[in-house]
Amino acid sequence: FFVVFEGIDGAGKTTQARLLAQALVQRGHPVVLTREPGGTPVGEKIRSLLLDPVLAGLTPLAEALLYAGARAELVASTIRPALAGGRVVISDRFVDSSLAYQGYGRCLDLKELEQLNALATGGLVPDLTVLLDMPAAEALARLTGRADRIEQERLDFFDRVRWGYRQLVKRAPQRYLVLDGRLGCRELHRQILKAVEERF
Ligand code: C5P
Ligand code: MG
Repeated sequence: FFVVFEGIDGAGKTTQARLLAQALVQRGHPVVLTREPGGTPVGEKIRSLLLDPVLAGLTPLAEALLYAGARAELVASTIRPALAGGRVVISDRFVDSSLAYQGYGRCLDLKELEQLNALATGGLVPDLTVLLDMPAAEALARLTGRADRIEQERLDFFDRVRWGYRQLVKRAPQRYLVLDGRLGCRELHRQILKAVEERF
C-alpha cells in the first residue's frame, strides 16, 4: 500500500506523514517512511543541490529533470522493493509535487512532465494521496511566522501550486483524500488514519 502526502510548503505534510507512520507501526504494520526530493543517498544529494541558493536561477526544465532523477532512484531502490515486500510506503511528496510546482507553478507543459515522470516511476501511482489544502498566505505564514513579510511573487507562486493540486484532484478524485490543512493536527491525523485503514 502506497500513501503519499501532498500540499504546498507549510501545509503540514511532514508532520502528518510521521504521525501516520508511527500509528501504523504501533498497529503492527511494516512501514517505510520516505521523502522527496531525497529518501536515498543520491536523492539527498540532489535535494541539497536543489535547495542550494546557488541553484536558485535553475531553469524550470533542469529543475524538473533533477526532481525526476531523484524520484527514479527512490522508486527503484526503495519504494518498489518495499511494496513488493508487502510494506506500507509513506512518502512526503511524489509525482504530484512536480506537476503542481514545476507544471502549474513554473508553467512547464503538464503533458511533458507527466511523460517524464511516468518514465521515472515506471508508471507507479499511489493507492492514496492525502492533499493538505490551505490558502498559500496562511501556510507561508506558518513557515515565516510573519504574514506581512511574504513577498508577493512567492505568494503568487504558491497560489498557482495550490490551484494546480486542486486541478489534479479533479482528474481522479477517488485516489485522493483532500483535507483542510488548517484543522488541528490531531483531527487531521484521525481522519487520515481512518481513510488509510478503510482502504487496506
Ligand atoms: O517538502 P519539502 O519542504 O521538504 O520540500 C523542499 C523544498 O522543495 C520546498 O521548498 C518546496 O517548495 C520545493 N519543491 C519544489 N518542487 C517540487 C518539490 C519540492 O520546488 N517538486
Ligand atoms: Mg515538510
